[in-house]
Amino acid sequence: MAQHFLLSAAVRSLSLAQVARMSDEEALETFKSIRWSANEGRPFCPKCGCTDPYPRKSKPLWECKGCEHVFSVTSGTIFASRKLPIRDYLLAIAIFCNGAKGHSALQLSRDLDCQYKTAFVLAHKLREAMANQVIGHKPAGDVEIDGGYFGGYIKPRNWKENRRDRRLARNQTGKRRVVVVMRERGGNTLPAVFQSEDASVPTIRATVRPGSTIYADEAAHWDALAARHLTKRINHSQVYSDGEGCINQAESFFSRLRRAEVGTHHHISGPYLAAYSSEMAWRENNRRISNGEQSLAVTAASLRAAPSKSWKGYWQRSWSNGQHVD
Ligand SMILES: [Zn+2]
Repeated sequence: MAQHFLLSAAVRSLSLAQVARMSDEEALETFKSIRWSANEGRPFCPKCGCTDPYPRKSKPLWECKGCEHVFSVTSGTIFASRKLPIRDYLLAIAIFCNGAKGHSALQLSRDLDCQYKTAFVLAHKLREAMANQVIGHKPAGDVEIDGGYFGGYIKPRNWKENRRDRRLARNQTGKRRVVVVMRERGGNTLPAVFQSEDASVPTIRATVRPGSTIYADEAAHWDALAARHLTKRINHSQVYSDGEGCINQAESFFSRLRRAEVGTHHHISGPYLAAYSSEMAWRENNRRISNGEQSLAVTAASLRAAPSKSWKGYWQRSWSNGQHVD
C-alpha cells in the first residue's frame, strides 16, 4: 500500500524556505495532495463525492460529471473565494507557524505584500482552523486548570488628582475577561473565555472526563470541582510546585498568551480573545513538531474546515455596517 501523503517526506517541503522556492504549479500540487489525500491527491467533487470530474483547460477548475458542480482545490474550505495565489497561502501558513508568540496581521501584510485587511482575515481563518482541531475534545487523565485576565485595560490619568482606583468595579470598563484553560499533562490544551473565573466551573465539570484528576490553585471557587472529580490543589502563597501538585503547564500556556498580547498584538480585544487563546493553545500542543509538520497540520486543518461563518465576507459586512473595531 502506498504511504499516506501526510506521513511522507513531502511534509518537510512545507517549511518556509521550501515553500519560498515553490512555483505556483508545485503549490497547487501540494494543496491537491493535502485536500484530496483520501484519493491520492486526485480531485473529487465536494458536493456529491464523484471521483471523476472533467478538468477545465484554462484554469485549475474541475466540473463534476455527476452534479455539474464546478470546483477548485479550495472550494468548500475555509479558503473558498480566495483572492491570493495558492503559493501565498502556503507562505502565509509557514510564516504564521514560525511565530511562536503569534504573528501580527500588519507584519503578515508586509511579508506577503498584500492588503492589511486580507492578512487580518487570513490570520483569523488560520486561527479558526487551529481551533477546530480540538473542538469536542474532552480532557482526561491529569488535567491542570487555571485562569488569566485579559483586556479592559484602563490607562492611569496623567495628573495624580484625576487618577481613580482601577481595582474598583465602578472604575472599570466591563471589558475585562478571563481565559480559563484546561490542560492535559502530555496532551491537549483547551481554553475558553468567561466573565469571571468562577463562571467557568460548570463548563469544567461538564468537559473534563470523569475519573480524571484536576489540579488547581487555592482559589475558593475551584472547591466545587471536588464534587465530581478528584482534585489536587497547590497553594501558591506557600509553594509553586510540591512535586506532583502544580499547574505549571497551564501557566506555560498563559505565559505564551501574555507574550503574544504584550509583544506581538499589543492589545487583544474582547471579541477576538477566544481566537488568540485557541491559537496559543494550538502552539502549545504542537510545539515539539517541526516547522514543516506544523505547516502541514494547519494547511490540512484549513482544507478540512468549512467556509468560515465569522470571516467569509467579513470586510464587506463591516464596511456596509459602517463599522469596524480593530
Ligand atoms: Zn458532484
